[in-house]
Amino acid sequence: MEIIHNFINGQSIPPANDQYLENVEPAIGEIYGKIPRSTEQDIQLAVEAAKAAFPAWASTDIGVRADILSKIADLIDQKRSQLAQAESRDNGKPVKLATLVDIPRASSNFRFFSRAITQWSGSSYFMRGQESLQSFTIHQPLGVVGCISPWNLPLYLFTWKIAPALATGNTVVAKPSEITPYTAYMLGEICNEAGLPPVVLNIVPGLGHEAGQAIVEHPEVKAISFTGGTKTGSIIAGLAAPKFKKLSLELGGKNPNVIFADCDYDKMLKTTVLSSFANQGQICLCGSRILIERSIYNKFKSDFVAKVNSRKVGDPKIDENHLGAVVSAAHQQKILDYIALAEEEGGRILTGGHAIHPKGRCAKGYFVAPTVIEGLDNNCRTNQEEIFGPVVTLQPFDSEEEALALANGTAYGLASTSWTQD
Ligand code: NDP
Repeated sequence: MEIIHNFINGQSIPPANDQYLENVEPAIGEIYGKIPRSTEQDIQLAVEAAKAAFPAWASTDIGVRADILSKIADLIDQKRSQLAQAESRDNGKPVKLATLVDIPRASSNFRFFSRAITQWSGSSYFMRGQESLQSFTIHQPLGVVGCISPWNLPLYLFTWKIAPALATGNTVVAKPSEITPYTAYMLGEICNEAGLPPVVLNIVPGLGHEAGQAIVEHPEVKAISFTGGTKTGSIIAGLAAPKFKKLSLELGGKNPNVIFADCDYDKMLKTTVLSSFANQGQICLCGSRILIERSIYNKFKSDFVAKVNSRKVGDPKIDENHLGAVVSAAHQQKILDYIALAEEEGGRILTGGHAIHPKGRCAKGYFVAPTVIEGLDNNCRTNQEEIFGPVVTLQPFDSEEEALALANGTAYGLASTSWTQD
């Protein structure tokens, strides 16, 4: 059983209340480790440490900060294989995907901001008619920043928050999702190896409504960078706004892929399968509502279903598998419940619609067959709520106006794709 601790002051520290959460490997459905169930006390310790470290880090020469962040990027590259395997074990995603996308993007985050900080500039404006008067902007670090990230792209989104905060001279208290904490723990070790001063980055796993909320509510945390679900974002906005904290929220989506008859058909088909089912559909930008011009609807439907049926689902360690496990038993159940709801709402399942139990090592893992559904109204819950799994719906449209109305007809506004030559 692997036990990880909080990373505070550059050290591995057990949680104050000695409570732990189980860490499950979704591809095999078994517990493989324990992680701290951190509470307000641990957050207090981490914030005090980060606050004490702030003046020295904020006044550290930009070149030195840039060199350290660049070294962190190099070490992530060097440990790409171990990080990808750890990420797949926590998350269920194919190791190949983590190796090719998630981990390289995490090192890019550090490398990008290590370079960007050396090009930092302000701006100034002369007042017309009174050239002796000038307004100017300068950039200054805020202090302690809270970074809270989700489970779907664990290290990539975690570093997307931490790297810019550190580059610009802030110190950080960060909470990964408790479902996928291991690469965050490994990042702490990498930061020590890269020479990041201890205390500048503190990593505190735990439950969202306990550790996460304690970060958001702490008066010494000056800004929150959050990626996750829209409901959680709304809770965080409600807590942060009365304290006038700076807030960055990247939330959920119900993204339409709008496909017109004049599109480059083969390219569209290949990409649409990928953009709907990559990472088991657990990417905020995945297209989950596919809108197709009626003249090509039937052709698209049969070609798309055939392509989806050719996707292999199974052990994420096997490179030939396109889809791995979904992230947890609870999430698998949520996806299956949505599929049942779609049928109640009058949807026809064209393929998928069930759990999968691969043979061998992954027999007890949490797998869901890629699922395509048609026949649903745009206003039904299946087409309005984010499922965040390998489930897409198909809807035909007759005109550009109708396509736009369907595409815009949800409360979400994250991403959309248009396929046309015009
Ligand atoms: P959640 O909103 O459930 O959780 C995100 C993070 O917030 C987790 O670390 C969670 O901890 C924490 N959290 C939960 N409640 C609170 C609280 N009250 N106060 C502070 N922190 C809290 O999202 P998921 O992890 O389920 O991630 C999936 C969601 O993320 C999807 O909706 C997806 O669209 C969105 N997403 C958006 C992206 C974007 O860039 N727009 C990118 C990637 C994902 P814990 O895990 O312990 O509950």
